[in-house]
Amino acid sequence: MSNFTTILPDTSAYWSAYDQVSALNIHLNFFEKLWAAWYQYMDNDTLATGIMSFVMHELVYFGRSLPWVIIDAIPYFRKYKIQNTKIPTAAEQWRCTKLVLFSHFTVELPQIWLFHPMCKYFGMETGVPFPSWVTMAYQIAIFFVLEDAWHYWLHRAFHWGPLYKHIHKIHHTYSAPFGLAAEYASPIEVMTLGFGTVGIPILWCWITGDLHVLTMYLWIVFRLFQAIDAHSGYEFPWSLHHFIPFWAGAQHHDVHHEKFIGNYASSFRWWDYFLDTEAGPEAAKARRERRLAKEAAKARKVQ
Ligand SMILES: [Zn+2]
Ligand SMILES: [Zn+2]
Repeated sequence: MSNFTTILPDTSAYWSAYDQVSALNIHLNFFEKLWAAWYQYMDNDTLATGIMSFVMHELVYFGRSLPWVIIDAIPYFRKYKIQNTKIPTAAEQWRCTKLVLFSHFTVELPQIWLFHPMCKYFGMETGVPFPSWVTMAYQIAIFFVLEDAWHYWLHRAFHWGPLYKHIHKIHHTYSAPFGLAAEYASPIEVMTLGFGTVGIPILWCWITGDLHVLTMYLWIVFRLFQAIDAHSGYEFPWSLHHFIPFWAGAQHHDVHHEKFIGNYASSFRWWDYFLDTEAGPEAAKARRERRLAKEAAKARKVQ
């Protein structure tokens, strides 16, 4: 056998594991059989979960960023670009990709080996069958709301002078962001804000005793989509916030990168709205009008 064939994974062994799982578990659906066969084939749950987590993150992160790289290269889309004079160059995008990859391989990869033992310690389910769609959907909705709150406060704290200067400034390298820049940040920031994405579901599992790692994966996929799209720099007539008014989206986060102040939340607009930290000239105008109305009301009372 040549060296080349020996370094390739043995796919026939995987499919024979799949056949075994299928024969013994006819009640499982196709995806559950694929999942169970993967664990049987790996014969090491820590590696099975670890590799799956890392590969999923890379595929989703770069897979979701690629359409935005292509859109940046097509002049037709310029009319939808929020800061349309600032198109990221190929060199900028490549530089950003290198730093993100470097951080994935040095900071994230070693931690991924702890993921399966941690899941087990907190009682997370990793086997088959999968939970129902309803269970996954309501848990993911809760994670969205909780992560957004965590993100709002921690991100707002990162804009405090010393923390901004030493940690968060790296993420603000690009005043006109693009998809690949979503995770362009200091490792301290990635871990702190990342707690909202990874730590909150783990805490949830610890308290309720009810979470499957697949739900966690799906949640992370949605959260990656949210973060990359929020950094895309594009606002379309069909962007999600036109249909769900409290959804933040690119329009919300782009202003944050442009102005450096306000719009601290990740997925939703409610924290910035109720705590009066919305960014941009429209928000400033609305704030001024509210202040003037308050002053006028006070003056009327005095008279
Ligand atoms: Zn910021
Ligand atoms: Zn950002």
